[in-house]
Amino acid sequence: MPEETIFSKIIRQEIPTPLLYQDDLVTAFRDIAPLVDSHILIIPNKLIPTINDVTEDDELTLGRMITVAKKLAKAEGIDQQGYRLIINCNEDGGQEVYHIHLHLLGGQFLGPILPKAK
Ligand code: 5GP
Repeated sequence: MPEETIFSKIIRQEIPTPLLYQDDLVTAFRDIAPLVDSHILIIPNKLIPTINDVTEDDELTLGRMITVAKKLAKAEGIDQQGYRLIINCNEDGGQEVYHIHLHLLGGQFLGPILPKAK
């Protein structure tokens, strides 16, 4: 069994965090250290440490993460202006919390997808 992270405690509300959305598959809440004006995390309720651990059984959950991101972008009023969805994986991807999460980023111009890495 993979080790739980703080996100499992947020899902179960053992660490009280205002939830923007929760259903049988996914949970969404604001990032504690927002990088942009609107920074929301959408996570599966099931602990999946990294995208490398995803299986075909998770396809419904991963699809739900996207449709919830779309709804939250609309609720945030950023859908028409635009936004970015990111999932980091492992060290080079910059992953810090090993419970996969979709970053919904927007509310301001985000610029190029990445600073020049080379
Ligand atoms: P990663 O770098 O793993 O893709 O992103 C992890 C994100 O989780 C970071 O943006 C970080 O600010 C956020 N985060 C870490 N701990 C907590 C927490 O306890 N509560 C909330 N709301 N966000 C967290």
